[in-house]
Amino acid sequence: DIAAHRTKAAGGNGYNLYAVGMSDELEERHQLESDLRRAIARRELALQFQPQVRLRDGQIVGCEALLRWDGEGSGKVPPERFIPIAEDSGLIVPLGEWVLNEVLKQINEWRPHFGDDFRIALNISGAQLHPLRSARLFNRLLEAPVADRRLLELELTESTLMGPPEAMGEALSRIGLLGLGIAVDDFGTSYSLVNLLKRQPITRIKIDISLIKNVGDDAVDAAIASAIVTMAHALGIKTVAEGVETQEQLAFLLALGCDEAQGYLFSPPLDPPAMLGRLTARESLLPVATADEHRPA
Ligand code: C2E
Ligand code: MG
Ligand code: MG
Ligand code: MG
Repeated sequence: DIAAHRTKAAGGNGYNLYAVGMSDELEERHQLESDLRRAIARRELALQFQPQVRLRDGQIVGCEALLRWDGEGSGKVPPERFIPIAEDSGLIVPLGEWVLNEVLKQINEWRPHFGDDFRIALNISGAQLHPLRSARLFNRLLEAPVADRRLLELELTESTLMGPPEAMGEALSRIGLLGLGIAVDDFGTSYSLVNLLKRQPITRIKIDISLIKNVGDDAVDAAIASAIVTMAHALGIKTVAEGVETQEQLAFLLALGCDEAQGYLFSPPLDPPAMLGRLTARESLLPVATADEHRPA
């Protein structure tokens, strides 16, 4: 089933398969795919967790689980390389199940260390929500205690959310009914989601790094970021800025009233023990200069 799907996805009508210069790329993809197939069993996969920080006081209010693969044959492969291959081959379904299981384990290990507001976000590909493939994901979520589900937030990109409206609407309603949050990932990179935002149980918008990068010197990107925050708040949806690296970006986001941020300015993605260290320390992750400026007199 998986193999048949892959052939279809990679080959399409069969013409592209033999296009000049494609064969090396295809061969590498096939190699990565078979390596990836064994990766779960070989324990070559790991999760890192990047803190999401409440800008008001610098407290960690959540984190995003990010998949890491350090393979025996392949070495460290960035997600941007292997996730699309996993999506095309259907491997994203078992891979996604593995991620969910790890996150559920992590919640229970960390539970004594976080307060009521905490959440763990995980990235979900469109393929995982396909009506023919989503049963196992939903069954696993149904098995999880309600209290655990309330801590989970699924990150879906705009293009995933703009998939077949009926099937997507159904999947989103089920996720909402199960008590999970839904974050729009990489917001601002494709078409308007305003209608969906109005109708579906979206809880958070993540402003894409490409907008955040330019807020200091591009008036248009700054205006878009500002409009996103205003729109989200008008709809009762919180905002998270992605990829915050500089004080300048942080100052801009604070002025906008953006709720939360993640990025190297606060912390890179961390291994579980380092994440636990951050949680137990309960220290503000705001850079010192900013923390001083915003400390109440
Ligand atoms: P994403 O969900 O938008 O994740 C944010 C990416 O930005 C991560 O890249 C993160 O490491 C990176 N990042 C965080 N802070 C900064 C910063 O300050 N500056 C810069 N330049 N980058 C920053 P990563 O970990 O390489 O993941 C790339 C993409 O792979 C993710 O984008 C997501 O779409 C996908 N991905 C990762 N893990 C999973 C997973 O478990 N399942 C699925 N379906 N996709 C995943
Ligand atoms: Mg994400
Ligand atoms: Mg993102
Ligand atoms: Mg992104």
